[in-house]
Amino acid sequence: MSRLLLIGPPGAGKGTQAARLAAAYGIPAISTGDIFRSNVKNETPLGTLAKAYMDAGDNVPDSLTNDLLRHRLAEPDAQSGFLLDGYPRTTDQVRELDEFLQSHGTALDAVVELEADPEIVIGRLRKRATEEGRSDDNEGVVRHRLEVYREQTEPLIDIYDGRGSLVRIDALGEIDDVTARIIEALLVRGIALPDAATR
Ligand code: AMP
Repeated sequence: MSRLLLIGPPGAGKGTQAARLAAAYGIPAISTGDIFRSNVKNETPLGTLAKAYMDAGDNVPDSLTNDLLRHRLAEPDAQSGFLLDGYPRTTDQVRELDEFLQSHGTALDAVVELEADPEIVIGRLRKRATEEGRSDDNEGVVRHRLEVYREQTEPLIDIYDGRGSLVRIDALGEIDDVTARIIEALLVRGIALPDAATR
């Protein structure tokens, strides 16, 4: 049972690692980006509101994002652990998550930072744009998303570091190696993979 958070610039491989870690630890991967994308695809009211921000590479306003997250974390599958990918992204969202966890008598076990060089990240995103056709992966928007990350999300790393919860991981290299690095670093912090029998 783990409560984990994955943080890092766009293109660092958060989504890929989140899926693998969720499977390994037996917890749901909760990606606010995925939830927004599915709302856009299904043309829900939330999707309609979020789309313009996403297409521009801006953060969706906290008022929309915090509600969405609170509801998702209240779902049954998140009661015994979760891996957050792409949330929190702003200091306001950190406050919101803190309040949510405190009011439920829980806390995060670790915050994993995926460290990646911005130029390499841009190259990866360019590739993803061709492969997945994400409308927010074109070069100009990608650069803007990196700026937004630097301005609004990077400060969160110091916050979590100050609390002693940060685990820094080199996000470059083979996908399997990065996953292994994360699992190893979490183990050092006393966060072990669940026993296969209890999964
Ligand atoms: P991602 O899949 O995490 O790269 O997110 C894609 C887009 O969804 C972002 O560029 C934002 O527009 C929006 N988004 C995802 N998560 C958040 C969040 N926690 N706060 C605000 N906007 C978000």
